[in-house]
Order: sequence, then structure tokens, then C-alpha cells
Amino acid sequence: MQISVDQDICIGAGQCALTAPQVFTQDDDGLSEVLPGREDGHGSPLVREAARACPVSAITVAEG
Ligand code: SF4
Repeated sequence: MQISVDQDICIGAGQCALTAPQVFTQDDDGLSEVLPGREDGHGSPLVREAARACPVSAITVAEG
């Protein structure tokens, strides 16, 4: 699994960090970023839920 956040799309709603705080955080501008070393999802089942919860679909979850 490979997770990425498109900060050009992110509106800083914070749903991802609320849903899967082990993987997502918000930077100083309030935009989402993947925590360092957690790009593989850290085995969290909440990652997909976070991606679904994002209102602007800024989170990409790729398999492999
Ligand atoms: S849920 Fe989406 S819009 Fe909100 S902070 Fe996360 S990536 Fe950005």
C-alpha cells in the first residue's frame, strides 16, 4: 500500500487526521500530510476509511 495526499486539492478539512491519526497529520497550513515513515499505511485499516472520508478525494491509496 502506498498513500499520498495531493495538497493542491486538500482543503484542510482534517477528516483524515481525525480518522487515522496514526498515518495522517496536518502541517502548519492545516493541509494534510502523511506522517514520515507511514506512507505504507502502517497496517492501519482506517486508511481506506480516511480516504473515503476526505470530502475532496485528495487521498490516493495505491496497492503494491
Ligand atoms: S480529509 Fe482531505 S481535505 Fe481534509 S485534511 Fe485530509 S486530505 Fe485534506
